[in-house]
Amino acid sequence: MLDSNEAKISAKRIISRCNELAKITCMEAEITRLYLSKEHLIVNKLVGQWMQEAGMLVWQDEVGNICGRYNSTFIKTPAVILGSHLDTVKNAGRYDGILGVLSSIEVVYWLNKKNIRLKLAIEVIGFGDEEGTRFGITLLGSRAITGTWKKKWLFYTDVEEISISQAMINFGLNSNNIHNASRNVEDIVAYVELHIEQGPCLEKENLPLGVVTNIHGARRFKCKFVGESGHAGTVPMMYRRDALIAFSEWITYMEYITIKTHSQLVATVGIINCSPGAINVIPGMINFSLDIRGPKDVLLESLSYVLFKQAKRIANNRHLNFEYEEYYRTSETICDTTLQNILCTSIEKVQGKSILLPSGAGHDAVAIAERWPVAMLFIRNYRGISHNPEESVNINDIVLALQAYSDAVFRIVEEKSKYYNSH
Ligand SMILES: [Zn+2]
Repeated sequence: MLDSNEAKISAKRIISRCNELAKITCMEAEITRLYLSKEHLIVNKLVGQWMQEAGMLVWQDEVGNICGRYNSTFIKTPAVILGSHLDTVKNAGRYDGILGVLSSIEVVYWLNKKNIRLKLAIEVIGFGDEEGTRFGITLLGSRAITGTWKKKWLFYTDVEEISISQAMINFGLNSNNIHNASRNVEDIVAYVELHIEQGPCLEKENLPLGVVTNIHGARRFKCKFVGESGHAGTVPMMYRRDALIAFSEWITYMEYITIKTHSQLVATVGIINCSPGAINVIPGMINFSLDIRGPKDVLLESLSYVLFKQAKRIANNRHLNFEYEEYYRTSETICDTTLQNILCTSIEKVQGKSILLPSGAGHDAVAIAERWPVAMLFIRNYRGISHNPEESVNINDIVLALQAYSDAVFRIVEEKSKYYNSH
């Protein structure tokens, strides 16, 4: 475990690096860093350099993840993977994802500085895409590692109609080689991710650190109410087929029924497009996004069912049409119990007790869990505000997190190498 002085040195370095990365953005005065953009290239170069300085062998893989490996005593052993993502949402904070990558580098930095080689390799991965901000599909970085990239994704486009395939060429990658990024099952024994909580639970408990039990599943839909646009002055209210009013009726129901169904279910409409969008024209069509998340697939299933049933009922009553299309889904992810226990013990050492909590946000661990055991350590962030420039983490919390994280990594290697050697 890092002692508190070492952890303080690292925490300061992490904060200054978070600030440095925050300047690499495509939008002035905010942090927006998209997958396969030129900012992504710059960040990879910088983070790759930090990995190298920490003693790792560094490479950028075939989808643009930046990877560093710190070999074990023996060259060819499986690895414990530590990581998170380096891309951001629009107008993001400076810690989401990034804190996990930089903390992992610090763990290796101290091993290398003290000339310690463990029984298993440690790899740090800075995933290129977790948020899905640019192409609307999330977890593209980690899905390459698991070998679950779908060919059709290459044709998905960003707002400028640039396809993933073209963006890869611009980035210096070849989409024919994506399969080379995938890893053999036997080469990885565990994945551990340190991440800000992005919610208020740890702060409410007055605890800096916690362990994630499960990551909620998600469904994303493109929906629309289709009515008829018309003159805002001449069409009497009773003859209108106003799509915005239908939508408004539905969204208040959405809030009501989501709360009523289960305390851990959430539903969000984050994008609304009203057309034709003129002051003197009745809204003929509302296109909107719907994102629902929660702990159990069956809950998500029943919530989406009642939401769409109600949307159709409202549309019928108003002589409108309602249509929806699901374009993304993830199932609930359960974190590995052995890894959870190790994290809990490491956290107890630094903060006296540990706490278990679910993650309402998706993470790279969701994709990785399809093939390998995963665990997550959460660090509290100010008022739970995330995906927002106000995102903030206390440096003393980072110090404790680094101590617990490094301790856990060490013990995970001990645990997993036992298993590895005996087989
Ligand atoms: Zn994140």
